[in-house]
Amino acid sequence: MKPKIWLSSPHMGGEEFSFVKEAFDTNWIAPLGPHVNGFEHDLEAFTGSKYAAALSSGTAALHLGLILLGVGPGDEVICQSFTFSATANPIVYLGATPVFVDSESQTWNMCPELLELAIKDRIAKGKKPKAIMPVHLYGMPAKMEQIIKIAQRYNIPVLEDAAEALGSTINGKKAGTFGAMGVLSFNGNKIITTSGGGALISDQEKFILQARYLATQARDKAPHYQHSQIGYNYRLSNVSAGIGRGQMQVLTDRIKQRRSIFEFYLKNLAGLPGIDFLREPEGHFSNRWLTAITIDPDKADNITRETLRLLLEEENIESRPLWKPMHLQPVFKNHPSYINGISEKLFNNGLCLPSGSNLTQESLERVIRIITSAYKKKSAFA
Ligand SMILES: *Cc1c(COP(=O)(O)O)cnc(C)c1O
Repeated sequence: MKPKIWLSSPHMGGEEFSFVKEAFDTNWIAPLGPHVNGFEHDLEAFTGSKYAAALSSGTAALHLGLILLGVGPGDEVICQSFTFSATANPIVYLGATPVFVDSESQTWNMCPELLELAIKDRIAKGKKPKAIMPVHLYGMPAKMEQIIKIAQRYNIPVLEDAAEALGSTINGKKAGTFGAMGVLSFNGNKIITTSGGGALISDQEKFILQARYLATQARDKAPHYQHSQIGYNYRLSNVSAGIGRGQMQVLTDRIKQRRSIFEFYLKNLAGLPGIDFLREPEGHFSNRWLTAITIDPDKADNITRETLRLLLEEENIESRPLWKPMHLQPVFKNHPSYINGISEKLFNNGLCLPSGSNLTQESLERVIRIITSAYKKKSAFA
């Protein structure tokens, strides 16, 4: 068996273990402690957001974000259809209904025109959406300036899913800082990891104070356990936060490494017929969490993304189709959706290539070799 090449695997920088050791040495083995506070400060400094709450996952952060925007049973929330299910699930946890909006082709994220159409239609149907959830997929920031303008016009708050986009920017402003709140994830496959974790960020202190309160079982100030609200156990552990503090020291390098992997694939594959890459629109800077290509079978001699995925799999190389849109998921297929066909086409033709910052040059060359061999095989039969 050839050595495994992963899509995106954890990449420690070196200092993580000394932070974790410090947690052990001082017996701060709890879902609070100095590393949690330190990690929140690191996130605030890096993102430029005034406040951050370190939480147990990105999904937990999305759930709390929706609660803080007052989403409850019977409400509707507009959600990007082209995303991971974790964006949409918390809407349903709250008894609300996701209303899905399709993507545009420049960023692959929420289409502003379709968003406005959806808002108008929901209002005409008698229900104004309670929140808007754009996503910055694969690190590419959505068209936030336009989305925020529309959100303001209708006075609907924005909860940004920046789980894949830590360090991405639009005109220098960090993804996750455009809306009322932003969500980050530190799952094992993300650009940095705490082994599992997430954060809610905001410029509004009340949101973050409330998030920390809800995340620690909503305890009122009293010597006994007293509760006036339903709480959650969503705080990040001090041990995990120690990993996060070490990872923050190398985040800028990780972004550089992921971007240079994108450039390498671009240089070596962009000439192949039918293969295309997502470019950065003017002002947009992507952390290039994952490099994704699209393969147009009509131009690629009938090579499809599945041809390439299976060839890579035979060589013990992990690649993955792009996210299957929520409006096509069995669990969500009956929800209202505003669709233009773009995300479905991306799902049919798109493939994420191994993009971990710890990939060796040799591994990247192996990936290139397999993909180019698909074309050679084809021309041998031609
Ligand atoms: C990873 C991810 C999440 C969820 O984050 P977890 O920390 O795994 O809960 C949410 N949205 C998107 C787009 C993601 O990629």
